[in-house]
Amino acid sequence: MSQNKYDVIVIGAGNGGLMSAAYCAKNGLKTLLLEKHNIPGGCASSFVRGRFEFEPSLHELCYVGTKEHPAMVYRFFDGLGADIKWSYDNDLFRVINKGEDGYDAIVKSGVEGFVDSLEKAVPGSRESAEKFLTLAKMTADAMDYMGSVTVPVKFFSDYIDFVKAGCYSTDYLLDYLKMPKKAQAILKTYWSYLGVPTDDLIGMQFANMVWSYVYDKPAMPQHRSHELSLAVCKSIYENGGDIWYNSPAQGLLFDKKGRVIGVKVHGKEVYAKEVISNAIPNTIYNMIDKKYIPKTSVKYTNARKLGLSMVTAYLGMDCSKEELGVKDYTVFVTTTSNTREQYERCGIDKNYYIVNCLNEVLPDCSPKGTCMLFFTLPMFDGDFPTDVTAENYKKFKNEFVRHYIEDYEKTMGIDIMSHIEEIAIATPVTFARYLNTPKGAIYGYETSGWDNVMLRSVGSKMEPKIPGLTFVGGHSDFGDGYNSSYQTGHDAALQVVARLKKEGK
Ligand SMILES: Cc1cc2nc3c(=O)[nH]c(=O)nc-3n(C[C@H](O)[C@H](O)[C@H](O)COP(=O)(O)OP(=O)(O)OC[C@H]3O[C@@H](n4cnc5c(N)ncnc54)[C@H](O)[C@@H]3O)c2cc1C
Repeated sequence: MSQNKYDVIVIGAGNGGLMSAAYCAKNGLKTLLLEKHNIPGGCASSFVRGRFEFEPSLHELCYVGTKEHPAMVYRFFDGLGADIKWSYDNDLFRVINKGEDGYDAIVKSGVEGFVDSLEKAVPGSRESAEKFLTLAKMTADAMDYMGSVTVPVKFFSDYIDFVKAGCYSTDYLLDYLKMPKKAQAILKTYWSYLGVPTDDLIGMQFANMVWSYVYDKPAMPQHRSHELSLAVCKSIYENGGDIWYNSPAQGLLFDKKGRVIGVKVHGKEVYAKEVISNAIPNTIYNMIDKKYIPKTSVKYTNARKLGLSMVTAYLGMDCSKEELGVKDYTVFVTTTSNTREQYERCGIDKNYYIVNCLNEVLPDCSPKGTCMLFFTLPMFDGDFPTDVTAENYKKFKNEFVRHYIEDYEKTMGIDIMSHIEEIAIATPVTFARYLNTPKGAIYGYETSGWDNVMLRSVGSKMEPKIPGLTFVGGHSDFGDGYNSSYQTGHDAALQVVARLKKEGK
């Protein structure tokens, strides 16, 4: 089509969109990336208040690895020539359960560290922890293998345990491995990183994530996740791509057969051979004529459950972490060991929340004599009170966060309130406005029930699609997370490149 200005237009510069645009441009496609904000990254960004530059989202990145043992994310950045300085945490997390069945345990990274720390917290759990890691490693290997072949014949012989474990829940899997209940409860603390309680979260997805955190260690970039997003943008520019900021896609353009042939932006029509959307399907479907959307796609989108959102509070403290008395990077606080209860009562009674101190991993991330705290208070669709109005919103969010800060002060025996120099609070309203997602969902759709990652990645090949349009990001096949949104972006780019090459376009 001679009127095409671009080979590919990518809508949205979140992790998935950035990686798509970068790998399209790197592979010689004339690429345009559209972003509605004035900076890239979506969740992967940073913001400044006073003397502090805050990380808005990233607690821990998995699948990074090192130069010597690069994992997927490392390879993606390396492939773009981006030299990111990573820091790693030797602990996975500390969990404090204040309920009747309470515990206070630290789970370490590294295979030995992980097994030893679970055994220390719950004597008698060593054997099951080792078995879990063996299965988790197989899961990670199998996932790698699945991504590298089109006809996975060998898969069923080499990874049979993975296939068998594929659709069992995390609870079933850990019971099967005879892990003591208390050790299970400690390990399952991690469920919120995938947004699904462990009775409905397939063991394979959970094991896969845990393996990467244990083996590769949780990784953080030196200069907030904004550094990652800027590094990808640099590569896009170096390979001749264009990025238009302050440019929300307003609609898609179609040919007579219903194929996407471009995007409407600033009231103008910009044409391309393929379009990749990092914006969630709900957003795209709301900006186009329904006649272009396959009926089954509408059904899928409506049937899917929106994933986790959050209230988050970012605190710049006028004292160092030592003065404050903080010793851990990630602390989960809960009042029950049951992940279904943690999930169902999110946002109620300070039942489950996370507190991070970035200075523990990156000592120089804030000015000398200061530190930063990051409160994450998970919330699900429906948890946000319906009586919050524009008038009482500020009061609501301040009060909501104050309760959690006070709870953490009491739990840890420290004084936070009188040391707060800066504070910023985000709620599902903030995320809805910033990310353009329904109800401020930050994890896309929940990977639970019929829509778990296993069934989703197999089923997505059979889901009808709007020709010329591919979705990437945390709402796609692999569920939420930096790693999975990068992966969907990267994979979609290579598929578009291959398609255009094959069609000789
Ligand atoms: C508080 C918080 C903590 C998190 N912690 C972690 C963690 O520790 N580890 C981890 O791996 N993951 C974490 N996540 C999840 C992770 O950030 C997301 O899964 C991932 O970043 C989603 O990337 P995405 O590609 O879906 O893009 P998104 O970040 O959703 O970005 C979408 C982009 O599209 C743009 N856009 C939308 N509509 C349009 C339009 N019409 N036109 C142009 N642009 C548009 C938006 O402006 C945005 O830039 C966290 C998220 C949050 C919010």
